[in-house]
Amino acid sequence: MLEEILANNERFLQTQRPALIGHTPRKRTAVVTCMDCRLVTMFEQALGLQRGDVLELRTAGATISQLERTGGANDLIRSLAGGVYLLGVREVLVVGHTECGLAHVNPTVLTASMQALGVDPQQLIQRENLGDLNGLLSWLGAFHDVHMNVHEVVEVIRQSPYLPRIPIHGLVIDIQSGQLAVVDRDTRA
Ligand SMILES: [Zn+2]
Repeated sequence: MLEEILANNERFLQTQRPALIGHTPRKRTAVVTCMDCRLVTMFEQALGLQRGDVLELRTAGATISQLERTGGANDLIRSLAGGVYLLGVREVLVVGHTECGLAHVNPTVLTASMQALGVDPQQLIQRENLGDLNGLLSWLGAFHDVHMNVHEVVEVIRQSPYLPRIPIHGLVIDIQSGQLAVVDRDTRA
């Protein structure tokens, strides 16, 4: 895949000349979403976003691992803090999606996959004090309901002492149609 990408890049450089724009997002907004490959390109189109409009942050499941939620200091919060304090972000959208891989994690499949790749789940659970298989799933960020997950992530961001009080909204996008549903509109005064 690396060679393919490098060849694509050669072609890109010969045909495209991207406009010079600054790194502060024009819409003063950060959008948090999932890493799902079906969101590539489709996500920006569905939201009407252009290059330079917003910060895009992606984590598996558009979520924060259960183990990193307390205290509100985690890598997602760190990125949002950079966006807010250094790049002028004043609004955040957390966008989960239907059919998310993290909403359907089969523990047996997970542990079998780890073992097949030479990683011992039990050893990891012990070393990292995860307790049991559920702890491992929590560490991975697995959840049962995408709407619930969006609510929870929105709440962790709202409560983080590292961030100022700015609107934090929660949405879910239909991975097939691209339709957005607002599940948590920030109405705090
Ligand atoms: Zn996903």
